[in-house]
Amino acid sequence: MLASATTRSCRCAGAIGTLVAPRSDDSRTEAPAHVKPAKRMERIGTETAFEAAARARALEATGRSVIHLELGEPDFDTPRNVSEAAARALLEGGATHYTAATGILPLREAIVADVKRWKGIDTTPEQVVVTPGAKPIMFFAMLALIDDGDEVIYPNPGFPIYESMARYVGGTPVPAPLREANDFRMDIEEVASLITPRTKLIVFNSPHNPTGSILTADDIRRLAELAVEHDLVVLADEIYGRLQYEGEPLSIATLPGMAERTITLDGFSKTFAMTGWRLGYGVLPAWLVPDFSRLVINSVSCTSAFAQYGAIEALTGPQDAADAMRTEFIARRQLMVDGLNAIPGVTCVMPHGAFYTFPNISFFGRTSSEVADHLLYDGGVCGLSGTAFGKHGEGYLRFSYANSRENLTEALERVGASLARLSSTGELVTAGSVQA
Ligand code: PLP
Repeated sequence: MLASATTRSCRCAGAIGTLVAPRSDDSRTEAPAHVKPAKRMERIGTETAFEAAARARALEATGRSVIHLELGEPDFDTPRNVSEAAARALLEGGATHYTAATGILPLREAIVADVKRWKGIDTTPEQVVVTPGAKPIMFFAMLALIDDGDEVIYPNPGFPIYESMARYVGGTPVPAPLREANDFRMDIEEVASLITPRTKLIVFNSPHNPTGSILTADDIRRLAELAVEHDLVVLADEIYGRLQYEGEPLSIATLPGMAERTITLDGFSKTFAMTGWRLGYGVLPAWLVPDFSRLVINSVSCTSAFAQYGAIEALTGPQDAADAMRTEFIARRQLMVDGLNAIPGVTCVMPHGAFYTFPNISFFGRTSSEVADHLLYDGGVCGLSGTAFGKHGEGYLRFSYANSRENLTEALERVGASLARLSSTGELVTAGSVQA
């Protein structure tokens, strides 16, 4: 039986809000008169899921019940064999020291074997960089590659950090819209039309957060042709790769001419329910490794030593827990999609991977952010506005189904009832109306 953290009462879910302070102007205290944050801080974005979770917890503190469908993390515990391997390394293995900046060799070897097995990528331990979570791979890619004014094509809606980091380092983020009519796939011919002499990097993510879409093998082949033709680098975010439910995944790094221009991003957070461990990696072209290595040394020195031993066990030990999570996600996906489509005014396409649904709520004639707030304050369900993932997310919400079937069923009932109230009264319930 899978251990589901949401079914236990003592989960420290509140901890996540303390990890990332919401960056909004009203959270800022007065700076001393002569000290101002650097100009570049005006360009950095954030990940709204953390802010939404904090608002949901504030509501819960007033005694209201909230079902959390906002966060992108499996509700399961890390498989026990993985935690035990890390504990052994910590208690008996002396894994309490700095490691090599790019990660311990046995983990990099395990990653080489794993990416061969699951993605068909041929690489070497020297081309693997282990990081605290996969997010630093995005940051390092932008820092290492993007000069002022260089253009970065990225999916919109999409993981908000691509745009945030591209802008932060001085680049120009260029959104490639994902549309429901195209099953939320990147339109590769549209991507072709966005390429200019300033384009340096194309980011894509399959399976995709927040829509659950996947790129077809033909899409990926065409993207590779474009990258080679225009001499571009590609950041392939494959963090949900083991959570693709239809079609055969294809890693762009395996295609002709791509190994030397692809950064493949993956990690342990989603597949092995290890979000709190902070463990990810990039498989890089050899020419980029020295730069990434220096960025690691300048920022974090290395990734937690004992956590890396847990990661070896995750990749090389029994896979039944990861497989069981995947099977459970498939069942929940059906439950969510059926339940959402049964709500008058809501339509939801079947996602093909990851653990998110992206229902269309444009029928209600309100912004996504208004509807998301209404569902929180009226219905007690915390989801995210589609616009948390970029302007092309308007008209949609993201509900994660990384929650128990019991909670998902209850959430669907609440969403249905709350949207029915919105339709009949035309009144949005907001944070203000709850406090009043
Ligand atoms: N890429 C995508 C598309 C994600 O959704 C996430 C996390 O939500 C990440 C990367 C980062 O994962 P990690 O927790 O390993 O930093």
